[in-house]
Amino acid sequence: METGKSERLRSLPAVDAVMRDQAGAALADRHGRAAATSAVRGVLEDLRARISAGEEPAVTESGVVALASKLLSGRSLRRVVNATGVVLHTNLGRSVLSEAAVAAVVEAATRYSNLEYDVALGKRGSRYDRAVPLLTELTGTEDALVVNNCAGATLLALAAVVGEGGGEPEVIVSRGQLIEIGGGFRIPEVLALSGARLREVGTTNRTRLSDYEEAINENTRAILWVHPSNFEIQGFTESVGVAELAPLGLPVIADVGSGALIPFGDEPLVGDAVKDGAALTIFSGDKLLGGPQAGIVVGDSSLVSAMRRHPLARALRADKLCLAALEATLTSYLEDTATQELPTLRMLRAPEYEARGVAEGLALALSREDFGLEVDVAPSVARSGGGTLPLYEIPSFAVRLGGVEAKTLAEKMRASDPPVVGRVHEGRVWLDARTLLPGDEEAVVAAVRGALG
Ligand SMILES: *Cc1c(COP(=O)(O)O)cnc(C)c1O
Repeated sequence: METGKSERLRSLPAVDAVMRDQAGAALADRHGRAAATSAVRGVLEDLRARISAGEEPAVTESGVVALASKLLSGRSLRRVVNATGVVLHTNLGRSVLSEAAVAAVVEAATRYSNLEYDVALGKRGSRYDRAVPLLTELTGTEDALVVNNCAGATLLALAAVVGEGGGEPEVIVSRGQLIEIGGGFRIPEVLALSGARLREVGTTNRTRLSDYEEAINENTRAILWVHPSNFEIQGFTESVGVAELAPLGLPVIADVGSGALIPFGDEPLVGDAVKDGAALTIFSGDKLLGGPQAGIVVGDSSLVSAMRRHPLARALRADKLCLAALEATLTSYLEDTATQELPTLRMLRAPEYEARGVAEGLALALSREDFGLEVDVAPSVARSGGGTLPLYEIPSFAVRLGGVEAKTLAEKMRASDPPVVGRVHEGRVWLDARTLLPGDEEAVVAAVRGALG
């Protein structure tokens, strides 16, 4: 037994030998030598561990390369089937772009463009020339700016209001809004980075207008109002809205987060913050807007100009692919076709019976094949996700797969190509229909076939 093991260990090829092999060389051509070598080394270490543990895996040089190749393609950015029911799933890429946005991205990517060129005048223009009028029109503001993401926009807005004038600049924030959004984006840290001193007012559960009034002094530059997004305080609470803060005479910077241009659940509308008098309103491009990752700022021209002039603006600027997708997305809103054209909005707003229809179609396709599974359709709860209220529930339907070990089935479905990501709940795999896109049904059936075949 032990001799078999040591023989097997000895028979493992060396990393160099695998890389010299024709298949190894091809792998290096495709993925780069360093990545390919490291993947091969990883596969060999894994095989060594399995042999030492008493397993008897088949080992050939081409087999090692095949495993390394699978490992490397699994690492590249690729399609995943989202069967979680979380529409704006940050880990799965948040928004899905409209056809028009994709076409605009392809054109901007494969051709030269008027990115920073005024074609009529034959001279330099601004990369924001097209997005700004769309944004000001849609939100009823004087000016707008687009940067890399919402966190960047908040940082830049704070840095810009702080940058004007000397002294020890302060920004007032309610203690109920000193939040962490996720991924380490914490309001107190962003404020520190901007150079402003944080002036906390109120308590975690209650902040009154008088708290703000008492905190204002000659160093106060702005009031930051943050949508609590991903958490909720219930019970004995009190907070102050933008409409009450605006008359205090200081610029109110409203980070509304998800950026709904049209009503969705209880989400604050961008237009409401603007109407309530926010000097700057900030929101994400890839949450409820349904566009590309971007941080969008709309508001008073003097402050937006200050942001544009700030050195950080260049560091945070939006790239041409983002701007192409954003312009196409905003055009859908302007033409009043957003709810039909933007897949993210469609998924969020589809009536329950549509989700049920998709679930029943998928269940039927799965039952047609003899997988030996227990397949049924059950009501489920989908979520908007993406930093918007995670407590916000959208009624949905899911296909449930039972009669097998759920965790193992879910794992195998994730190892499929494309991977299918569902939920394990009550001993079954739940595939929520709300987040399935056209073409996903075949991928799910193939994943189940691969897992059980
Ligand atoms: C999501 C969110 C952010 C961060 O947005 P990104 O576009 O991911 O940077 C900032 N503020 C609020 C209130 C949010 O909800």
